Amino acid sequence: MGRIESADVVVIGAGIIGAACAEALSAAGVRVIVVDRGAPASATTASGEGNVLVSDKEPGPQLELAVASRRRWPVLLDELRELIGPRLASVEWEVKGGLAVATTAEAVGPLAALTAAQRASGVEVEDLDADRARELEPHLTEQITAVSHFPDDAQLQPVLATAALLAALRARGGEIHSGVTVDGIATDRSGAVVGARTGADAIPCRAVVNACGPWAGHFSATIGAPIDVLPRRGMVLVTAPLPRFVGRKVYDAGYVDAVASPEADLRTSAVVESTAAGTVLIGSSRRRTAFDDDLDVAVLRCLARGAIGLFPKLAGVPVMRAYGGFRPYTPDRLPVIGEDPRMPGLWHATGHEGAGIGLAAATGRLLADLFTGREPVVDPGPFRVDRPEIALEA
Ligand SMILES: Cc1cc2nc3c(=O)[nH]c(=O)nc-3n(C[C@H](O)[C@H](O)[C@H](O)COP(=O)(O)OP(=O)(O)OC[C@H]3O[C@@H](n4cnc5c(N)ncnc54)[C@H](O)[C@@H]3O)c2cc1C
Repeated sequence: MGRIESADVVVIGAGIIGAACAEALSAAGVRVIVVDRGAPASATTASGEGNVLVSDKEPGPQLELAVASRRRWPVLLDELRELIGPRLASVEWEVKGGLAVATTAEAVGPLAALTAAQRASGVEVEDLDADRARELEPHLTEQITAVSHFPDDAQLQPVLATAALLAALRARGGEIHSGVTVDGIATDRSGAVVGARTGADAIPCRAVVNACGPWAGHFSATIGAPIDVLPRRGMVLVTAPLPRFVGRKVYDAGYVDAVASPEADLRTSAVVESTAAGTVLIGSSRRRTAFDDDLDVAVLRCLARGAIGLFPKLAGVPVMRAYGGFRPYTPDRLPVIGEDPRMPGLWHATGHEGAGIGLAAATGRLLADLFTGREPVVDPGPFRVDRPEIALEA
């Protein structure tokens, strides 16, 4: 690798979050270099099912960020299309809607309470009866006790979206370097960032963004400004391509509870959706582990059972493959977006757990707003780095 020139900002990590931050900074006229020890979008982002959801967020800061991001994505995609052309900006964006399905009497009350709170926060939700739900999704189970429809839930292809964001960065003169590990930060006498160290070299810059996904905790500890970001494992089953089997994102009403739970132990709840290629993705599991990438057959069995509970016909469908990834988890379940007061010029954009694809558009915008001193797209307070749940003792 030759010497990498200087930049205003070095973004560490070319997942969807690093790419979104780099794109938004470059749109604001900031000179950006993105580095990744692997290839762009080759880590957690490649595992994402691509949902851009408002339906699975409880009211609060994360829902506000999700609503801002859901609003931002189509505008951002228009901007990308304009800049890099329709082919590169094609990311399989589809506003397909989501269905939360209760199949037991006990699940009806919690679903009604959640949707009432979401409605009060401005999310569009329709209550459907079982017949109408099966009109929308003909293969849905007969065992329906309540269904809520979220017309604004959308989906895109995360790897294509990351590539499009990075193409925009390149079009504005930014650079992306694969196979480059950042192992330290160079600081001046006052302790402010002046470079990103890559072995014996350093890329001169006045700021770095830690967008290392589930490795953000480890990276931040290495440079002496630790934040509490940990891996939370998730696995997905992928069926053989089927003729249009499921049109929306369909999930068990218990999913929101599993998403919001901070539990370290295994949580599963059924989530079923199709991709543009016709495969059906079946999730979802959550377990806090170290970076152990074994595929646990008992968990996969659990996922299959849950999906068949929602769509009995899936019982006869072949599974083509299974894969897993590590979501970047934070103890208070909120991302970390902003400058680290312990080291001027160190920024973090991480900790999006199972929602980083959806939240990327607003995360990039918020980071660029804060970096350039613009009016922030959402209140940055809940995501700040020095909240006690996140900033650890060095
Ligand atoms: C099974 C599964 C399904 C999911 N489904 C969805 C979904 O439907 N919708 C949704 O919104 N979210 C979903 N998510 C979550 C989403 O995938 C993540 O929140 C998101 O991809 C995080 O992106 P990131 O850029 O922060 O991390 P990553 O994509 O992991 O990127 C971090 C990058 O940093 C690089 N890196 C780390 N350390 C260094 C270093 N020292 N030097 C250089 N490079 C470094 C890594 O190589 C990596 O490429 C899912 C996650 C999983 C596991």
